[in-house]
This record gives sequence, C-alpha cells and structure tokens, in this order.
Amino acid sequence: MPKNTYDFLIVGAGLFGSVFAAEMKKRGKKCLVIDKRKHVAGNIYTEKREDINVHVYGAHIFHTSNKRVWDYVNNLVEFNRYTNSPVANYKGRLYSLPFNMNTFYQLWGVTTPEQAKQKVEEQREAYKHIINPKNLEEQALVLGGKDIYEKLIKGYTEKQWGRPATQIPAFIIRRLPFRFTFDNNYFNDLYQGIPIGGYTKLVEKLLEGVEVRTEVDFFKDRKSLDSLADNIVFTGKIDEFFDFKYGKLEYRSLHFDHEILKTENFQGNAVVNYTDREVPFTRILEHKHFEFGQQKRTIITREYPHEFSKDKESYYPINDAKNQAIYEKYLKLSEENKNIIFGGRLAEYKYYDMHQVIEKALDKAKEISL
Ligand code: FAD
Ligand code: UDP
Repeated sequence: MPKNTYDFLIVGAGLFGSVFAAEMKKRGKKCLVIDKRKHVAGNIYTEKREDINVHVYGAHIFHTSNKRVWDYVNNLVEFNRYTNSPVANYKGRLYSLPFNMNTFYQLWGVTTPEQAKQKVEEQREAYKHIINPKNLEEQALVLGGKDIYEKLIKGYTEKQWGRPATQIPAFIIRRLPFRFTFDNNYFNDLYQGIPIGGYTKLVEKLLEGVEVRTEVDFFKDRKSLDSLADNIVFTGKIDEFFDFKYGKLEYRSLHFDHEILKTENFQGNAVVNYTDREVPFTRILEHKHFEFGQQKRTIITREYPHEFSKDKESYYPINDAKNQAIYEKYLKLSEENKNIIFGGRLAEYKYYDMHQVIEKALDKAKEISL
C-alpha cells in the first residue's frame, strides 16, 4: 500500500489515541487506530457482566476542574452524579477517606475543626524540622503526622509500590485532599461522575467512523504498519518504541481478581481500601455502586499490586529520580522524530488522570492543525 493511505497511524485505542482520532476525523483526516488488546478503550475499558458495568482494569472515576474537558465528555455521553468516597479498612476498623473531619473523629474522637487542628499540630510536631519533604514518607508525616501515616498510608503505599515509602516520590501523596470539613469527597475538582453505561461507550463514540483494528501489535508488524501513514501517534511504552536503547523504564503492575457473588450488596461502597500491610490486596471494588445498581447479584474486584515483568501490563510509571533520568533521554530522542507524536500515560511516562490525557490530546490535535 502507498505510504499516504492514512494521514495518521494511531498506536493504541486508549483515551489519548481515541480523542486524537476523533479530533482528526473532525478535521477531515484519515486515521487507522490499532490496539494489541482485544478491545478498545485501553485501561478505561468497562465490560457488561451480570448487567453490571465492570471496570476491568481498576476503578475509574472521572473528575476535573477543566470546563472544556468536562463539556467535551458530556457531549459524548451522559454522566451520573457519582462522588468517590472510599472507605479505609485498617485491621478491621473503618475510616473515612480522604483525610477529613470524619477521619479525625474516627481516629481521635475530636468533634470540631479547632480540636482537630490542635491534634494534627501535636502529631506534626516531631516532623517540624522537615522543610522540603524528599519522599512520600516525609511528606505524609509533615502533612498529618504519625497516626494517619501509620494507619492509613504506610501499609497501603508500600504494598502498592512494592518499596519503602522513603523511596517513593512525595508528589504521589499530595494527590489526596486533607481538609477540616466533614466532606468525604476524594477529589477537590469542580466536576465528577461516571459515564452512564460505562466508559467503553464513551470511547466507542469517539471512534465512530474511524477505522480500528484490534489485536494488532505495532511491534510485531512495525515495518508494514509504518509504511501506511506519514505520521504516527504512539501511545504505547516509549522505551519499547526505541528498543530499550537507554534501558528499561520501570512500572508497577497489578492483578485484578474479579468475582461474581450471589449476594446483593457486598461492602456497601464502590471502593474499600485495605491499608494494613498484612492484607495482600490494596482495595476491593464493588462495581454496581459506581452506577447505583439494583441488580440481584454483585461483582467485586480485588486489586493486587505486582512486580512488573515482560508478560505483565504496565500500569503505573515509577517516577523516581532514576527512571525520570532514563525517560528524559527518551524524551530527547522523541523530539528528534518530528512525524511521530508521543502521547498518554505510557508514552509520556506520567501519572496522568483521564482529564489530563484528554486535555493533552485536544491540545496536540489543535497544535498540529494550525
Ligand atoms: P492506555 O489506556 O494505557 O492506552 C494505551 C493503549 O495502547 C492500550 O490500549 C494498549 O493496549 C495500547 N498499546 C500499547 N502498546 C501497543 C502496541 N505495541 N501495539 C498496539 N497497541 C498498543 N484516571 C482518572 O482520571 N480517574 C481514576 O479514577 C483513575 N483510576 C485509575 C486506576 C488504575 C488502576 C489505573 C492504572 C489508572 C487509573 N487512571 C484514572 C488513569 C487512566 O487510566 C489513564 O489516565 C488513561 O487511561 C490513560 O489513557 P492512555 O490512552 O494514555 O493509556
Ligand atoms: N494512598 C494511601 N492510602 C490510601 C489511598 C492512597 O496511602 O488509602 C496513597 C498511596 O501511596 C497511593 C497514593 O496515595 O499510591 C495515590 O492514591 P490514589 O487513590 O490517587 O491512587 P490511584 O487511584 O491512582 O491508584
């Protein structure tokens, strides 16, 4: 086939690839989207089982303060009013998340913001000398002190990342709100919800009228795929794209154990985190609660963090100094390849949430159309 069969070959039918394809279609460009998986939507893929939309690759809650992105997704599908309020289970006792007045009451019996602030101050006292927290442990201790760190953060974090909290970047814990109001909303964003009918519907809407081929691995047929288009949008792993020339970037992987139960309501909440070290999984999801489901049965998923290896999926980039330095080299190399766009969580090696990926894809499409 001639090189200009398509304007863009898009590697990956996840959120970045799909938004980019939709934007190019609007501009009259011809795209071919390929994905090595059996389905589109990447990690936001949801699948209907027992009449419940199952978040196959882990809980996905859409949240943003970006009106442009919120309007964009709402033009595709309708969102419900779901607000994420996970519960933490530490050695059989339950605590509200994120860290708020409900949590402080459960931990210390304090009932007013003033009492809570005093208690937090006492807890922080021992860590006052830490001015610039160098890692997650220091950051967590500076933020809320020892009780919160030991009951709600340390065990979860070390399971999740498979290394001591002293070796994890501080920014990761700054994702979570810390507030002196009785508000269990896990996010501070202005807008939040779940697409009614699941995320796959949203991605299918984006890919309407775009040619998509699943179960096609770019690296298995690189030469002939390369020859189909002048431009490539690559949303897979950047180190793999460059044949691991500067070494392998590290990731954290996960194993999802899905189970159908005959009971109607297993845990009364969509997400329950297990924050002690002894329980081997980090969280249990109960999917029907993302959409206020009334089905007779329920589906739960235990999420087990895993060491990354060749046959495992790469879920979380490990943005420590060592990996970041390797990534910078790949980034430099990628900037020399003007007809290849690298976008999304794997290609940019960034801990992006969905709204950030959408914004990036919209900006990139706009930039190259100018
Ligand atoms: P992906 O979804 O990973 O898509 C990349 C696609 O490329 C994949 O489908 C892959 O199969 C394909 N691909 C890779 N290599 C090749 C190849 N060689 N050939 C062909 N295809 C290839 N964000 C939120 O906003 N809220 C949340 O609550 C939230 N929860 C999350 C929970 C978990 C467990 C994880 C892992 C992520 C979560 N996220 C959440 C982040 C969200 O999943 C990402 O921001 C988003 O899915 C990234 O989209 P992407 O297109 O960059 O990547
Ligand atoms: N975290 C924690 N305890 C919890 C939940 C989160 O210590 O109960 C920490 C943990 O280090 C985690 C980080 O906060 O990796 C970010 O949590 P988030 O829920 O945003 O993680 P994600 O949903 O992206 O896996």
